[in-house]
Amino acid sequence: MALVVQKYGGTSVENLDKIARVAKKVIRTKEEGNDVVVVLSAMSGETDRLIQLALKAADEPDPREYDSLVSTGEQVTVTLLAIMLNGMGYPAKSFLGFQVRVRTDQAFKKARILDVDTEAIRAELKKGTIVVVAGFQGIDSENNITTLGRGGSDTSAVALAAALKADVCDIYTDVDGVYTTDPNICSNARRLDRITYDEMLEMARAGAKVLQPRSVELAKKFNVPIYVKSSFTDEGGTLVTREEKDMEKEVVSGVTYDRDQAKITVIHVPDRPGVAARLFTPLSERNIVVDMIIQNASILGHTDLTFTVSRKDVREATRIISDVVRDVGAEKLEVDDNVAKVSIIGVGMISHSGVAARMFETLAREGINIMMISTSEIKVSCVVEAKYTELAVTVLHNAFDLGKEA
Ligand code: ADP
Ligand code: ASP
Ligand code: MG
Repeated sequence: MALVVQKYGGTSVENLDKIARVAKKVIRTKEEGNDVVVVLSAMSGETDRLIQLALKAADEPDPREYDSLVSTGEQVTVTLLAIMLNGMGYPAKSFLGFQVRVRTDQAFKKARILDVDTEAIRAELKKGTIVVVAGFQGIDSENNITTLGRGGSDTSAVALAAALKADVCDIYTDVDGVYTTDPNICSNARRLDRITYDEMLEMARAGAKVLQPRSVELAKKFNVPIYVKSSFTDEGGTLVTREEKDMEKEVVSGVTYDRDQAKITVIHVPDRPGVAARLFTPLSERNIVVDMIIQNASILGHTDLTFTVSRKDVREATRIISDVVRDVGAEKLEVDDNVAKVSIIGVGMISHSGVAARMFETLAREGINIMMISTSEIKVSCVVEAKYTELAVTVLHNAFDLGKEA
């Protein structure tokens, strides 16, 4: 008998018919003799709908109230599944984050899980109950409801699997595994049987939304193997795991894109010590993550500084930076949210030269202008005009021979 954690994403629970299919899969796992903990997302589109409501109610909704609101989508799906399972004769009980006690920090909208209390879940499992947990939500030290950032149910599932020392953590979604690039925009994408935590983490951070980056970080830290599988077929699947000796070290193993990018340029900034700290400290104090930063060469003691943030943070970031712009004596701000980031990823890049150059040549051949570049040992990212996203992904996927064998 094993302890199995199964997470189903929004498209897998988007209506009652789909939830009934989930119920059948859960029952099958239970009938095979396993203890089952199910983690669910909200119905597909529901979290977006709730966010739009909050944004209609106020320009910058109070973060505490916002999290209480957007977490409610998961309450609907977990209770419906539990009602259905009970109705089919399989005792089941739903838990919201605060009922489990998924403890998080106080960073509303992007809270981090601190620990998970497993007592109540274990007690139910002992009785033979199927436990159904709402993903994406937790509770802070002052009993406020928090949410874990978009896609956060993946992280709920891995955190539960780690805390319960589960044997398996299955992530069921609308594709049958992790591919060399998003199979929904590149028909030639190839499914990977296995991928290392490190590569998956880079892909997730660079925008491959099949897993939330934090879920991969946790899985690596607690050595939880993740299987990414399809809710709709029993075929395929990808194992996300530690690096093993026989794993191939591809120079480039994947291409990703991230449309959730906005570029802010501070023009004519005085080039003196302390200015960058003055600009970026207030952003980090408000939990705004700055991704890429470039500073141009200084001319007559002044420079331009460009950085990217998530589109959802752009309004707040602009407001914060506008105050600092005056204080540090910069000229003005320019905001461009019509951009996207495309990246190539591969652990083999460390030992190969010329990979970045090939990426730049490939984009240049298509007339795609590169606005910003950043590199790490296993990733090269370029910011381009948003309209070129799909083209850039497709030509890079071809240029690095990632497609299916002909
Ligand atoms: P869920 O609602 O099940 O959590 P998501 O929409 O969050 O599903 O994630 C699954 C989606 O991730 C797929 O439909 C696919 O479009 C996208 N995706 C992006 N990059 C990849 C990739 N490299 N491999 C597989 N899917 C990817
Ligand atoms: N429902 C949340 C979202 O849409 C969490 C998740 O789907 O993982 O982001
Ligand atoms: Mg998701």
